[in-house]
Amino acid sequence: LLAPDGAVAQTIFAEMTALAARTGAINLGQGFPDVDGPDYVKEAAKAAIDAGRNQYGPGDGAPELRRAIADHQHRHYGLDVDPDGEVLVTTGATEALAASILALAGPGDEVVTLEPYYDSHAASIALAGATHVPVPLTAGDLRLDAAALRAAVGPRTRLIVLNTPHNPTGTVLTRAELEQVAAIAREADVVVLTDEVYEHLTFDDAVHVPIATLPGMAERTLTVSSSGKTFSLTGWKIGWVHGPAELVTAVRTVKQFLTYVSGTPFQPAIARALADDETPRALAASLSSRRDLLCEGLTAAGFDVVVPQGTYFVVADGGHLLDRLGAADGHELCRRLPDLAGVVGVPVSAFCRAGSATSEALATRVRFTFVKREDVLRDAVERLHGLAH
Ligand code: PMP
Ligand code: GLN
Repeated sequence: LLAPDGAVAQTIFAEMTALAARTGAINLGQGFPDVDGPDYVKEAAKAAIDAGRNQYGPGDGAPELRRAIADHQHRHYGLDVDPDGEVLVTTGATEALAASILALAGPGDEVVTLEPYYDSHAASIALAGATHVPVPLTAGDLRLDAAALRAAVGPRTRLIVLNTPHNPTGTVLTRAELEQVAAIAREADVVVLTDEVYEHLTFDDAVHVPIATLPGMAERTLTVSSSGKTFSLTGWKIGWVHGPAELVTAVRTVKQFLTYVSGTPFQPAIARALADDETPRALAASLSSRRDLLCEGLTAAGFDVVVPQGTYFVVADGGHLLDRLGAADGHELCRRLPDLAGVVGVPVSAFCRAGSATSEALATRVRFTFVKREDVLRDAVERLHGLAH
């Protein structure tokens, strides 16, 4: 009804989380941690509530949080960000992305994404009335296809939307890949909107490179991130976007009419958290061993996995299992997994345009999250093992 391409409908996460609740299956579908972020951050939010920070705050976010975001970007990436004018605090990365797309693209404009893409990117493009141009990642290893990106960018392109580390594939774009994207963006004079919510959740020797750090890119990049993943506080919905003042001003103008401002007492608490590099480092280390546990379990159960370099997620190909289990594709497999194995995942086709070549190519793949306690993952792996027999 809302978008002819189906981009604005019930999210796959709502469908699969409801399925898990109904069946009592272990929910490896929706990506949220089952252990909360640090107590001192929670205490800081309670202290802000008790101190009376319970009314609307400044339109661009609490000053100490904007300063903490600018410090974080400088400390980790050497980026110079002015907390007054170049940073906007938002209701999660979701709002930062939606407000950016609504501000910069409209009917007649094209917005390029890499497919599979995070579902809200497509929905926001549809809500903006812009034309979505998805560019498939390479088959097999799920990486950037620079030639395809170059071919997709044209005179009507307003935005290239990136996401690294990438949901759902776990791909972390390398500096060399990002240089190719940057060259295309500079030549075509388009803005890059980059979703970096998993910036600290990388494994092995993968390094997160913000595209804004590449030559000539800071002036044409809106960088989005969020405290949800970094500090295991996904329900707080404190995110942000930073970039050149004139672009951030446009995004702020839209944000006023989406939510006006974002949760006041959470902001000083996240400002404190952002000075803490140890919490995300420890999370990445523990996630990498939980990734290994789930990847080994999925392989033993008969899936073929592409080992992710970052995020909360692994993509597993259930192609070998489908015939034996009598499922037509990954979506049907996901609907039946609670009965078959007491586990829930999400089909990768949900991150693709309906009926696209990528959707067909990835039709047998399922995304599972490993941001669950180790005992929960062990239980899930044991249940999945039953599929192999
Ligand atoms: N972008 C990506 C790639 C995500 O995986 C998510 C969901 N966790 C979001 C954005 C939304 O983040 P938030 O909860 O901060 O709105
Ligand atoms: N980003 C999380 C995921 O990909 C969930 C967010 C949501 O439910 N919209 O699973």
